[in-house]
Amino acid sequence: EVAEFNPAAFAQRSVSPPREQVRAVPPCTDYDAYRAGGGYSLAAGLAAGRVDPEAVLKAMEDSGLRGLGGAGFPAGRKWRIVREQAAPRLFAVNIDEGEPGTFKDRTYLERDPHRFLEGMLIAAQVVGTEAVYIYLRDEYHDARALLERELARLAADPPCPLPRIELRRGAGAYICGEESAMIESIEGKRGEPRMRPPYIAQVGLFGRPTLEHNFETLYWVRDIVERGPQWFSSFGRHGRTGLRSFSVSGRVKEPGVKLAPAGITLRELVDEYCGGMQEDHELYAYLPGGASGGILPASLADVPLDFDTLQPHGCFIGSAAVIVLGHRDRARDAALNVMRFFEHESCGQCTPCRVGTAKAAALMEAPAWDGETLEDLAQVMADASICGLGQAAPNPIRCVQKYFPHEIS
Ligand code: SF4
Repeated sequence: EVAEFNPAAFAQRSVSPPREQVRAVPPCTDYDAYRAGGGYSLAAGLAAGRVDPEAVLKAMEDSGLRGLGGAGFPAGRKWRIVREQAAPRLFAVNIDEGEPGTFKDRTYLERDPHRFLEGMLIAAQVVGTEAVYIYLRDEYHDARALLERELARLAADPPCPLPRIELRRGAGAYICGEESAMIESIEGKRGEPRMRPPYIAQVGLFGRPTLEHNFETLYWVRDIVERGPQWFSSFGRHGRTGLRSFSVSGRVKEPGVKLAPAGITLRELVDEYCGGMQEDHELYAYLPGGASGGILPASLADVPLDFDTLQPHGCFIGSAAVIVLGHRDRARDAALNVMRFFEHESCGQCTPCRVGTAKAAALMEAPAWDGETLEDLAQVMADASICGLGQAAPNPIRCVQKYFPHEIS
């Protein structure tokens, strides 16, 4: 039995601004306001020995929180794996947020930066990491100014001993959102994904065991520990548990970040959280996970949106960037757009991805697709690419061939 999520209770933290205010910097809970609301007492309690790190780790494991950057690895388990590695251990935080259609991290960062920073300090203490590198998308100018200001306030009046914290700027490369490419970039090298194993939990930043987290995963830590793991896992629909922050864009009346129960369907998300479809647009298709997660038809709008639920349909939720298409849009146009993006953003390290994305984009421009050649290409890219970019690049091809054959014949 799981509870329905009540958005009103999260109004300040989860509701997107009205459309006309989208470009304005929203009000932010600054350091003083955050502390006045009881903030940093958990981080301070850990440092003073009043809070048991093992109890915090257990709460994380019991909550079922999974990495919200896209890969979905259980957060608590990751903490335990890295904690068991030999010191010194390091910590890398991913706020590159380069997945097309994803803007949840920026939304939360601009409103409540210290909720994330406290989660980061809690993780650093429980896992025992001696330095933290925050990798921030460079296009987020206002967010960077805000984060620099709030980090300075934190350092001036620390609630507990702070690890060394370095704020690093990305340089606009999508691939640097992939954890090992981000680590290469932090090390000052070209952002190219590493072959695994070894995993970065064992051999990561500067050769040291490294805890790597997406911004939003850390954003939920304080709430989970303070409210208890059952609080987080009590939300959910259709047999799924937890909360998800959907970045919704496209042909809906009210796009934005929607904090909703895990397992909500696209139809429910659009109707209940986005005010329905725009006038004169009927639901035709949707991208459930940004550029990489594939494209589904309206006939599959009742599939629960969560990790693991979309794989049978050839898609995945990733960072929950939902892009909604109307009946005047074409899935093939979206797929071509995505493939050109992958071609541009491929790091070029391996041939199936570097050459495959370029060839696929060229083939997808034909009015009638050469399905056999495209499928051959898709298979090679999925099987032989080093990282997720090349492995997921065939998803839009296969989805269009499977669900929208009338558009490409
Ligand atoms: Fe680079 Fe693409 Fe190979 Fe990933 S799959 S390593 S992005 S060339």
